Amino acid sequence: MFGSIACKIFTVYEQERDIEILKGIPISPGFATGIAIVYNCEVERMLSLPVREIQHADVQVECDRIDDALEQSKRDLKTAEQSARDNSKLADASALLSVHATMASEIAASVKQQIGCDLVNVEQALFSVIGDWISRLQGLDNEYLQQREQDVRDVGQRMTRALAGTKPWSWDSLPPGSVIVARELLPSEAVGLANSGVVAIVTEDGGSFSHTAIVARSLGISAISGISNVTSRIPSGAKLLVDGLTGVVTIQPIESEEKAFSVHQLEHEQQIASLLSEERQPCVTLDGVKISLLANVGLPDELDQVTEHHLTGVGLLRTEFLFIGSHKRPTFDLQLKVYGDMASNLGGLPMVIRTFDLGGDKLPPFLAHDELRNRSSLHLRGLRFSLSERHMLDAQLRAIVQIAQTTDVRILFPMVIGSHDFARACAAADRAVRQLDVLRRPPVGAMIETPAALFALDEIIELADFIAIGTNDLTQYMLAADRELSRGTDDCTAMHPAVLRAIKQIIQASERWNRPVCVCGEEAAEPDFARLLVGLGIRELSLSPCLAAATRQAIRRTDSHQAIELAERSLQCRSPGEVRALLATGLEDTTSIDLPDTMRESLRRRQ
Ligand code: PEP
Ligand code: MG
Repeated sequence: MFGSIACKIFTVYEQERDIEILKGIPISPGFATGIAIVYNCEVERMLSLPVREIQHADVQVECDRIDDALEQSKRDLKTAEQSARDNSKLADASALLSVHATMASEIAASVKQQIGCDLVNVEQALFSVIGDWISRLQGLDNEYLQQREQDVRDVGQRMTRALAGTKPWSWDSLPPGSVIVARELLPSEAVGLANSGVVAIVTEDGGSFSHTAIVARSLGISAISGISNVTSRIPSGAKLLVDGLTGVVTIQPIESEEKAFSVHQLEHEQQIASLLSEERQPCVTLDGVKISLLANVGLPDELDQVTEHHLTGVGLLRTEFLFIGSHKRPTFDLQLKVYGDMASNLGGLPMVIRTFDLGGDKLPPFLAHDELRNRSSLHLRGLRFSLSERHMLDAQLRAIVQIAQTTDVRILFPMVIGSHDFARACAAADRAVRQLDVLRRPPVGAMIETPAALFALDEIIELADFIAIGTNDLTQYMLAADRELSRGTDDCTAMHPAVLRAIKQIIQASERWNRPVCVCGEEAAEPDFARLLVGLGIRELSLSPCLAAATRQAIRRTDSHQAIELAERSLQCRSPGEVRALLATGLEDTTSIDLPDTMRESLRRRQ
C-alpha cells in the first residue's frame, strides 16, 4: 500500500450486459439513479518508491525530506479545509481535514525518530510508522476507532505523494449523475466529491463509521460498500439504481424495476419524515410516564447530536476514547480543557463522565509499551486498572471535580465488582475535592456490569449517588459470550431471561436505596428492548444518539401498564427466542409502529 504513489485511471467498458443485482452493505442512505464510472485505483499501487538503508550522515537529509512532505501536505489540507468551510454540508469534513493535518505532524515526528533509530530512508520509515498505527487501530475493541485506520492510510498516501511530488486526482471532469465504482474511496477523496455531480458511491471496502461514509452522508450521496470485485462486476457506462438503504445495486434496470425503485424511494422518505418529526415530542409513554433519553458519546464531535436528537444530556462519556491515540498520559490540564469544553458545549445539560475503562483491547500507545500490561480483557480492566494507576486516576478525578464546580458533570466508575473497590474509588473522588480545596463533590455512580457486582448490589448502591447498568459487559460476562464475536446473535443478548432477571434485581435494589438507575448498553436502543426496560422499571436510557428517534417513537406508543405485564412475563421465559416471540405478539396491541430493520439502519447511517 505504501511505498507507492497515486495515479488513477478510469476503465470504460462498452459492451452490453444482462441485468444484474448486487448486494452490499449500505453505508450512506438515499436512492440514486446514475451512470457507473469505474475508478481504478489499483493502478496507483504499481509505482513503488525506493526503500533503503542509510548512513548516520544521511539522517538529517531524510528528516528534511519528511519535513518538506509535511509542509506540502499541510498546505494542501489547509486549501481543502478552506473550501470545505465554504460549503455548509462539509462542516464535519473541514474538522476532519484539520485532524488529518495534526495526524500528519504526529506521523512526521514518529518518522523522524524511526529514521534516526533504524537508519532507514524516509519512505521506509513512513511505511513502517503507518503500518504500526494501522495495526494498533485494527486491534481496538471499537468499530468506530478501528475504521480510523482509513484516515491514517489517507494521510500516509498524501505524504507519500508529497514525497514523490505528484498531485491528487480531481473529480471535476465527471458528468452529473455519475456513480463512482471503486475498490475503496479514501476520506479526502470523498471530500473532493462536493459539487462534482457524483450521486452515489459503490465500493468493495469501507465501513459505515469510516470518514468516507460520514462525508458521503453529509453530502447526501448514497453509498454502498462490501461488494467483492465490484470494479470488474459493474461496467463503466452502465445505468445503475443504487439503493443506499438496503445496499442493493441494480445494473442496467428494466422499466418495471425503475418504477418500483421510485415507489420504494417515496415510501421511505415519508417514513423517515414521520419518525424525525416526532423527535421534538417529549419521550413519554401513552399513559404519561416520562423516560429520559441520554446520549452515549466517545468524542467531542458527537456532542452536536445531543441537541439534534433532542436528548436530555450525556449519560455516558467513554473518556478512554478521547486519548486512545495518545503517546503521553493525559495530564490534568489537558483533561480540564477537553471535559470543560465538552461540558460547556452542552449548554447546561448534564454529562456523566466515566473514568477510563482501559485495559484489555483498549490500550492506548501511552500504555502499550508497558511490559507489565497483559492484553487479556480479564486482567487489569476498568476500575481495577485505574486503581492500579493512581496517578492517572487522581489527575482525571481532579479535572472532573474542578469542572463540576461550575457545570453539571457527574463521575461514573466502570467495572465495579464490589463495595471494596467502589469505596476506594469514592475515597479517591473525595481526595480530589480536598486537594482542590473546593466544596462540591459531584455525584458519583457505579456501573453494574460484572456478575460479582450483582451479588454486592446493596453494599455498592448504598455508597453510590446513581447507578448505570452496562448491559454490553453484563451480558457478555453473564452468558460467557464475547460481545464482539457474538454480536447480534442470541448467544450474547440482554434479552436473555437471565440478564433480564439481573436487570430487575438491580432496579429493585436501586429503588430500595432510592437511587436513579440508567441502562447504557447498546441494546437500550433496540425499540422493543427499550419498552421491555420501561416495563421493568427503567426511567433513563443512554444510547447512541442517531438511534434515539426510533426508540423515542416506540416509547411514545407504549402503555406502561402493558409494558409491566409483558416484562413480568418475559422474566418467566426460558430463552431469548421466547422473549422475542412474547414481545412480537404482546406489543402488537400497544403499538402501531412497524420499524423495519432497514429503517433503523437508515437512521443509524444518518449519524
Ligand atoms: C457496557 O458495558 O454496557 C457499557 C456501556 O460500557 P462499554 O460498552 O463502554 O464497555
Ligand atoms: Mg462496559
